[in-house]
Amino acid sequence: MEIRTVGVVGAGQMGNGIAHVMAVAGYDVLLNDVSEDALERAVETITKNLDRQVSREKISAEDRDAAMARIRTTSKLEELGQSDLVIEAATEREEVKIKIFETLVPHLKPETILTTNTSSISITRLASRTDRPERFMGFHFMNPVPVMKLVELIRGIATEHETYEACLAVVEKLNKTAASAEDFPAFIVNRILMPMINEAVYTLLEGVGNVRSIDEAMKLGANHPMGPLELADFIGLDTCLAIMNVLHDGLGDTKYRPCPLLSKYVEAGWLGRKTQRGFYDYRGETPVPTR
Ligand code: NAD
Repeated sequence: MEIRTVGVVGAGQMGNGIAHVMAVAGYDVLLNDVSEDALERAVETITKNLDRQVSREKISAEDRDAAMARIRTTSKLEELGQSDLVIEAATEREEVKIKIFETLVPHLKPETILTTNTSSISITRLASRTDRPERFMGFHFMNPVPVMKLVELIRGIATEHETYEACLAVVEKLNKTAASAEDFPAFIVNRILMPMINEAVYTLLEGVGNVRSIDEAMKLGANHPMGPLELADFIGLDTCLAIMNVLHDGLGDTKYRPCPLLSKYVEAGWLGRKTQRGFYDYRGETPVPTR
C-alpha cells in the first residue's frame, strides 16, 4: 500500500518535527493536538525551522511553501481517520496513548497503519489495545526531527512484515536511516542513553560535579556534542523520568532506578527547555545552571 497522507497526533516538540519532515518529503499531513495553543505554536515552529532550512540552502523557498501548504491542523482526532499512516506523538503516558487509540480506531480505514513515537512503552502492549496489532508498530524519531538521521522501527509481537516494509519505505523517503529494534523497554537508543543521563543526575546529587563541570567533562572527555544535563533539558525531564520508570518497571533491575533529584525537578515543573527551567535556567540571554 502506498502511503500518501499522514496523521500526526500530538503537536509538541516531536509532533511538529514529524509534521515538518513528512511535508517536506511530499506527504499530506494532518496534525492534531488537544490544545489549540500547541497547534498554533507548532505551525510557528515549523515555519521558523523551514525558514532556517531555506536560509541555509538546504531547501528552496518553493519547497518551503509547498511543504507548508501540505500541513493542516485539527483539534478533532477523528479527522485523522482517513490517513494512510498515523503517528502518535502525544505525551509519554500510557493512559494518554491508550485513550487516543480507543478514540481514533473506530474512525480508521481498515488498511491504515497505526504507529507510535513512544520512547519506551511496550509496542506489543499498546498494539493489543487497538483493533490492528498486525498493522501497528513503533516509529521512533530522534529529537530534533528535522536534523537527526535515525528512526528506530520497532515491531510488536504481532506486527506483519508488510507493515514494517511500508514504514521502512517512508523512512527512506524521508532520507533518514532506520535501525530495527526489538520490543524491549526503551528499545536501543534510550536503553543506553537514559541510564547515562540518570547517572549524570546522580553525579550531580552526590556532589561529584556541578552542572557545568558534568556537562563540560562529558563534552570534552567523551567527545559528546552536548553534555548529559543539557541533553536532558533538551529532551524534557518529564520524558527522561518516564523512560527511567519504564526501564525500572520493565526490566526489574535496581540499576535503572530513577534518580530522586530528577523526580524533584519534574515535581517542581522544571522540565527543561520547554518550561524554560531545568538543570539550566533559559529565561535570560544565556543558560545559567540552576545548581
Ligand atoms: P511534548 O510534551 O513536547 O508534546 C506532547 C504533546 O501532546 C502536547 O502538545 C500535548 O498537548 C499533546 N497531547 C497530550 N494529550 C493529547 C491527546 N489526548 N491528544 C492529542 N494530543 C495530546 O512531548 P514530546 O517531547 O513531543 O514527546 C512526544 C512523544 O514523543 C512521547 O511519546 C515521547 O516519549 C516521544 N519522544 C520524545 C523525544 C524527545 O526528545 N522529547 C524523542 C523521541 C520520542
